[in-house]
Amino acid sequence: MSQAELRGIPRVDRVAGHPSLEEARRTLGTDAVTSLVRRAIGEARERAREGAAIPSVDDVAARVAELAGKMLRARARSVINATGVVLHTNLGRAPLGARAVEAVAASAGRYTSIEIDLDTGRRGRRGAFAEDALAELTGAEAALVVNNNAAAVLLMLSSLAAGRPVVVSRGELVEIGGGFRVPEVMERSGARLVEVGTTNRTRPSDYARALDAHPDAAAILRVHQGNFRQVGFVERPDHRELSALARERGVMLLEDLGGGALVDLEKLGLSEPTVAASVAAGSDVVCFSTDKVLGGPQGGAIVGRSALVARCRRDPLARALRLGRLPLVALEATLSAYLEGDLDAVPALAAMRAPLDALEARARRWCDALSDRGIAASLVELSGAVGGGACAEDPLPSWGVAIEGDPSLIAERLRKGAPPVLPRVQSGRVLLDARTVLPGEDEPLLDAVTRAVSR
Ligand SMILES: *Cc1c(COP(=O)(O)O)cnc(C)c1O
Repeated sequence: MSQAELRGIPRVDRVAGHPSLEEARRTLGTDAVTSLVRRAIGEARERAREGAAIPSVDDVAARVAELAGKMLRARARSVINATGVVLHTNLGRAPLGARAVEAVAASAGRYTSIEIDLDTGRRGRRGAFAEDALAELTGAEAALVVNNNAAAVLLMLSSLAAGRPVVVSRGELVEIGGGFRVPEVMERSGARLVEVGTTNRTRPSDYARALDAHPDAAAILRVHQGNFRQVGFVERPDHRELSALARERGVMLLEDLGGGALVDLEKLGLSEPTVAASVAAGSDVVCFSTDKVLGGPQGGAIVGRSALVARCRRDPLARALRLGRLPLVALEATLSAYLEGDLDAVPALAAMRAPLDALEARARRWCDALSDRGIAASLVELSGAVGGGACAEDPLPSWGVAIEGDPSLIAERLRKGAPPVLPRVQSGRVLLDARTVLPGEDEPLLDAVTRAVSR
């Protein structure tokens, strides 16, 4: 391709003012559209050098419209979760209930008494209500809230064990996803990892020997195996045995519990221990997420002995990891629901607790409604999951519908629709699980399926 020919590539101003980009100019502004035009022209020039034809102004404008559409679609949008995974990390984990949404809406556009004591007019403790509520709900002496559980674990280790050995079972050196790996977080915190036991079996005597060899050890760390399960020839010390050992040796028992269950989920068949059980079993400090099985906004909590929580609070890192105002307001509303025993106000809990017969009846209604619209769908029994690194492998039985047709085509149309619908694609079928579709989403779901199938 000669220089003269390359000069035939459309000029920036001619593309930027193209009538087909009217909508893009309105939503992104002319400067952003001009940047996309430069990118599209750069691509065209690159391709022309490799021998491709010189594109017309219309061609480049069409490419710019595509780039603009991609940029806009990357915004966080509300979607319908029909995957059956209640706490889907890629879908923002727990949806907030009406109480939390109202609290956020009431606070968002106004000034809020987040760090002022209205009784005295003096500076107050940020998160005081959430922390008092968490202490109450977990039986802990004190609590501290931060931005997420990864932050809570980092802060706990950094404040309480920097520069000192911390003993961890090799079976608990886990990776949670999104780059959270226990050995790496520990290294960042400044604590020194001492591995004990083997991948599948660790006994109290393993911890005891490590504490003998490291008399300056600060703590034993226990990590919940939330997102995988070991079966077969496995052994993990009883929690109380471990806390007795920690007490006897004068070291702390720290725990990364992951989920943060505030109510008993084991009666639902889910192997997710409560925070209260961990506190009662003698963990000195327990960290957990507030947007996993707790069902609140993104956040992390550190609960435990007051003196230890106070050390975490005083750490300068605590300021860097503090929880934002809007999630804090949402967390307070969620914890209020727990204090009142209004568990149905927490959508993730309601989804986990939904009775099977109600799910079956709902899926049957979807099936009938789709059949009435001429769409071939069948009622199916399903097995979902809690997700979010919680209750790994615990099946969450459910009901849903299977949609006939080309699964990848239908799934793509559902995903790209408005509202986007995320189905589960399994065994060559598109499945919609009734457990995770929120109340009030039935009609939008059925309309989206109708559009995706009959297009
Ligand atoms: C989920 C999880 C984390 C990370 O929590 P985030 O709230 O996602 O930061 C850490 N540890 C364990 C054991 C977990 O399950």
